Order: sequence, then structure tokens, then C-alpha cells
Amino acid sequence: MTEALSRLPKMDRVLDAAALATTPWRREVVRRVAEGMLAALRDAIRRGAGAPTVVPDAEQFAVQVAARLEALCGPHPRAVINATGVLLHTNLGRAPWSDAAIAAATTAARACDLEVELDSGQRGSRFAWTRPLLAAVIGAPDVHVVNNNAAGLLLACTVLGSPGGVALSRGQMVEIGDGFRVATMAAAGGCRIVAVGSTNRTHAADYEAALAPGPDGSASAILWVHLSNFEQHGYVAEVALPELAAIARAHGVPLVADLGSGSLGTGLPAREPTIASYLEHGADVVLASGDKLLGGPQAGIVAGTREVVERMRRHPMARALRPDKVTLAALHATAASHAGREPPPLPLHRMVAWTLDELRTRAAAVADALGLEADAVQACDATIGGGSLPGDRMPSIAVRLPAGGRASALARRLRTGEIAVVGRIEDEAVWLDLRTVDPRDDARLVAAARTALR
Ligand SMILES: *Cc1c(COP(=O)(O)O)cnc(C)c1O
Repeated sequence: MTEALSRLPKMDRVLDAAALATTPWRREVVRRVAEGMLAALRDAIRRGAGAPTVVPDAEQFAVQVAARLEALCGPHPRAVINATGVLLHTNLGRAPWSDAAIAAATTAARACDLEVELDSGQRGSRFAWTRPLLAAVIGAPDVHVVNNNAAGLLLACTVLGSPGGVALSRGQMVEIGDGFRVATMAAAGGCRIVAVGSTNRTHAADYEAALAPGPDGSASAILWVHLSNFEQHGYVAEVALPELAAIARAHGVPLVADLGSGSLGTGLPAREPTIASYLEHGADVVLASGDKLLGGPQAGIVAGTREVVERMRRHPMARALRPDKVTLAALHATAASHAGREPPPLPLHRMVAWTLDELRTRAAAVADALGLEADAVQACDATIGGGSLPGDRMPSIAVRLPAGGRASALARRLRTGEIAVVGRIEDEAVWLDLRTVDPRDDARLVAAARTALR
């Protein structure tokens, strides 16, 4: 091991090596990257103590450093074709933006009238246009916008849960994904979580007890969480939102509803609860994501009564959670798309609207271009994803790429090709679900699949 460690290339030799001499990067940047790689190499030698470790010489190592810098500086994130059949795929960036949202964001990226009223020349609000438009398309008295739904939850609990904390059913202490737990997030700003009920059954009396004066005081708000990605069956009981709203009113505390998915109802399966329906059921404030069923950029929509939304807007934490101009521009364009008479002309809503016949025609053309048999066109299930109702599947059509028993290798070739494609592995084949593919990408999908299949 010590022998291998002593053979590690010396930094000065690496930096002066031919492979790095003609590259465009600053010497200090190259050095820091090389140091990180050397440290990793040293760790590998120590971990594999005794095992023969290939130690590169200075020239070989310099080639590796140059490749690493090339990869680091290359454009990221990279475009991918989402052929997974998951409409809102969190790892693929959730809702794709509309062309209008992209154009608005590009405009906002340069100097823009973010916080100036062009008419008067006075200082204005960055929410001046988005706020009334969102309120109108959502059907809410007032709206505020933060970075994401988690930020909305943090702000709501910090502002409204003071001083007594928020009452939250044990049946709604959900984990949403990537270790994100609603109760943990709600408490992150110092808000106390008053757990009520049991995992499977929570009753009105449990909330009443949390709101009654006790040794720790009484909860200052009620938090209701939409069970976005799972369902409970069997011996279960929850207090319905209208009943919970009556309890909140009787105790003079606000009811916060974390909806997540944030449907506006237009052009989506009717089973998805809308923000407005939660407000109608008596929630004082509803929290939703901008990049789920709303079909826009990552943002946290805070929709509710003027009084409650104003309290949240005025809190110092709101400044730390405020969205940037590019997001606001894309969100504004997305909201405008929801104002029309027709179903919103958004990519998400188009994905939902494709008929099976349309998808089958496209799939047949893709399969034909790839020289596959007709049985490559297969019926399958797409899912909405992104915290919409669990099991919310919609019939779809996929092109099934035969992989000769090596599906994960084929899937990897698809992901790492010049045109990156993410599909789904099933039955030892790679399935390319056409519902989540923009038809403008069909030709590129064919090109990518052709290369990967070779
Ligand atoms: C998705 C989701 C969140 C998190 O939303 P982000 O916008 O990703 O922060 C919170 N609560 C619920 C119920 C959700 O579905």
C-alpha cells in the first residue's frame, strides 16, 4: 500500500503534463480538481489495502483530469427524452415548460421590469402581475409564491403555527420522496408539531384535544396533508376537510392544507382534487407545487384568505423563500395558459390528452422506422406521478425494444447516447412510452434507439 501511495503522481508533474498544457482551464482550477481526484485515488488504495491498484503516471493522470474537467464544464443539466411514461417525473425535472413559459423566462433572464412600474417609474412588486392572475385562475382570494411547496409548508407552519405549534394527524405524517417528510419540514423553522390520533384512525376529538388549553398550551393551527403517494385501507378513519374546517373555526385557528399536486381542474382527470375545492371545503390556505399538475416551473403556490396570505407574505422568512425572476416569468406564462377557454396549451395537459389511437399511430411509425415487428407496439400504463392520486394510471402505448436478455445494458446505451433517452425496463425489454414524449422528438427518439440497438 505505502509503495502504491508513493507512486502517486506529483502535482507539479501532472499540471505540466502535455494533456493539460493546451487546455483552456485556469491552473488553480485544474489543481483543485486534480487534488480531489488524487485524494479519491489515495482513498481507493488505502481501502483496497493489499489488492493491486493500478496507479497512473503523471501523463495518464493528466488525461483523466482533463476528461473530468471536460465533463464538469460541459452543459448540465442535459436534455433527455422522457419515455418513462411518468408524466411528472421528479428526477427528470417534473413538468416540462410550455414554449410560452420558456420565452417568458428568456425575456426575464435579461434586464426586465421585475420591480419597477414602467408607467410611473416607481418601485413595484415582483408579484404585481402573477399574484392577481394566479388568484383568478385558481379561484382564490389571494395568492403568494415561494420557491417550492416545501418552502410554502415551512413558511405556513412558522407563521401560523406560532406559538402553540400545528396539530397534524399521525395518519398524515407522510414521506413524499427522497427522504422528504412533511412533519420534519413543517418543524424545520422551529414550529412544534402536535401529533394527533393514530396511524390509521384520527377523530375530531383528537384535534379538539390538541386545540384545548393544556400544559404545553394549545396548537395554533391545524395542518392537513393530502396523502399524495399512498392510500390507507381497512380499519381507517380521517376527519374530512369540511369537518376539520368547522373545528378550526370554532377554535379560531387557521387550517392549512398541503395539497401538493395543485390541479386547477382544467384538462386533467376529474379525480384530482383542485386547489379551489380545498378552499371551498374551508381551508384558510392551500399549498401546492408549481411543477406538478399546474404544469409550470418549480414554485410553491400559497393560495388562501387575504388575512392569512398577507401574514405569510409579511413574515421575514418570506424574503428568504422568494422565487427568482425567471421562475416568476415562467409561472406567469403558465398561469396565463390556464386562463383560456380551451384546456391549457401546456405540455403536461397535451400528454394527458393524447388518445390511444394517436399514440398507436406514432408508436407504429417509430417501430417501423426501427425495423421492428408490429408486436413491438404494446399497450401499457402511464402514471401521472408528482404527488397526484396514488394509482392514477392512464392507458398508454409503448414501443417495446427487444434487448436479448440485456435490458439494463440497452437502457444504459439509451441514456448515455448523444440524444439521451430514459425508458422503462419491463419483461427483459426496454419500453419507450409515447405518452410522455413530445411528438416533435419522435424523429430524435428513433435516431437514439437506432444507435442504441446497433
Ligand atoms: C410534492 C409534495 C410536496 C413537496 O413539494 P415540492 O414542490 O417538491 O417542494 C409537499 N407536500 C405534498 C403533499 C406533495 O405532494
